[in-house]
Amino acid sequence: MKNRVRKPALADVEEVIVPAAELARTCALMRAHGERGYELLVLWLGNVDGRTATVVHAVAPPQEGVRSEDGVGYFVSGETMFELNRLLSETGLRLIAQVHSHPDEAYHSAADDRLAVVTTDGGFSLVTPEFATGEPFGGWAMYRLVRGRWREVSPAEIVRMLRVVAG
Ligand SMILES: [Zn+2]
Repeated sequence: MKNRVRKPALADVEEVIVPAAELARTCALMRAHGERGYELLVLWLGNVDGRTATVVHAVAPPQEGVRSEDGVGYFVSGETMFELNRLLSETGLRLIAQVHSHPDEAYHSAADDRLAVVTTDGGFSLVTPEFATGEPFGGWAMYRLVRGRWREVSPAEIVRMLRVVAG
C-alpha cells in the first residue's frame, strides 16, 4: 500500500474565501461572453486547509459556447479536462467550484447536473443570472455535491459560506 498524505477533504469545507480580484475577473469574463449571447464556465482553483477553501485563480478553460433554439450552454472537451487534471496535479491546486452564467434565471439545469466539471464530493457549483451583469451574488444560485447529488444551498448559507476578501 502506498503511504500517501491524505488531502484535506472538500466535503469538510465550511467557508470559501474569494479574493475580490478573482471574483471581478469571473464576472468580467462572463459579461464579455454574455454580450455575444454565450454562457461561460469559469473554474475556481485554490487550496483547502481544514474547513477553509481559498480561491487562488479564476480560469475560463477552453470551451465551445453553444447557442441554439434549445437555449445556450457550454461544452468542455475531454482534452481540456485532461489538461485541467494535469494542471491540478502539477500545481497541487484543487478545483473548488465551477461558476457559470445563464442568460436569465440562475439554477442548475438537468444538463448542469449531468455535465458538471466538479465531480468531487463537497465541491461547489455557482450559477449567475443575466450573464453576471448584476452585483456579485445577487440572485446567484449555489449548489454543493453531496454524496454524488447536487443539493441547492440556501441564500442565507451562500452569504455565510462565501467570504470576499481584498486582493
Ligand atoms: Zn446552466
